[in-house]
Amino acid sequence: MGGHVVAPGERRRCRLKVSRLPTDTWLALPIEIVVGAHEGPALWLTAAVHGDEVNGVEIIGRMLEQVDASQLHGTLLAVPIVNVFGFIEQQRYLPDRRDLNRSFPGSARGSLAARLAHLLIREVVTRCSYGIDLHTGSHHRENLPHIRADLGDPETRALARAFGAPVVVNAKTRHGSLRKSAAKCGNKVLVFEAGEALRFDEHAISTGVEGVTRIMKHIGMTSDDAVAGEPQEPFVAQRSRWVRARRAGMLHLTCGLGDHVVAGQSIGVIKDTFGHSVAKLKARHAGVVIGRSLNPLVMQGDALVHIGMSGAPVVAGELPTSIEQGAPGAGSSSQS
Ligand SMILES: [Zn+2]
Repeated sequence: MGGHVVAPGERRRCRLKVSRLPTDTWLALPIEIVVGAHEGPALWLTAAVHGDEVNGVEIIGRMLEQVDASQLHGTLLAVPIVNVFGFIEQQRYLPDRRDLNRSFPGSARGSLAARLAHLLIREVVTRCSYGIDLHTGSHHRENLPHIRADLGDPETRALARAFGAPVVVNAKTRHGSLRKSAAKCGNKVLVFEAGEALRFDEHAISTGVEGVTRIMKHIGMTSDDAVAGEPQEPFVAQRSRWVRARRAGMLHLTCGLGDHVVAGQSIGVIKDTFGHSVAKLKARHAGVVIGRSLNPLVMQGDALVHIGMSGAPVVAGELPTSIEQGAPGAGSSSQS
């Protein structure tokens, strides 16, 4: 990779040239390659596809600390910062405001985002059979540690359970996402969501490290029991919905991440700036709180509480029109 040959039992860091900056310096994509002494599958780990999502960077750092090439079966390709442009700016998007996770599979002659996406697919994804993309909430929202995956695929479903996060969400792949492109390349892919942007969250990080460790054992890359005990049985959400603000004001939530809620349950209130309650927030569906806003200032229509719901998927035509579907919408997406 990048002109380097890494022999079995070795590890090597390489930097793939992405683009020249206006300063005439090169920006490169750093990758650590760990080739196990023993044969086995190839797994990629990525973080900071959104440049302000730092929990995944720490998860990958701790994984690289614990992986031993002499004991490893197979190959680990670790990319702790995919959006190298956004990372140095501490921003979610690229300098041209594009969302890298809507730019896959990209192209060699496209936009900056498309070129970076293309490089990752060509050099990393196509060399692997498995991948885990690490994310956090965005725009002042925090996420409960959870896995998003295509549970319709039996092997992916088994991986999602093996990870051991408290919640697994059956999520359709989004156009332009790394998960969708990698799945098209034949990879089995999990997205791990945990914590918030630009904040280290120890619970999110340790859940991620334990989960990746369990996946490596599950697919036969390691044999040791680095994580004690069996993974917990996750709450499986077949879909997820946002509760949105009916009007603008100051948000006071009474639900926390991981809370189980029933339909109609009060989960918060919006007050005006004189302290009067102007709108009550209620869960429309039973489920688990997997994401919530941390910003008390809300505009009408803002996505405030994300609920993962159990039960079989409902046919679109059967849904009442008032129910919002999917993610919070353009420019305010809180997950991958
Ligand atoms: Zn993200």
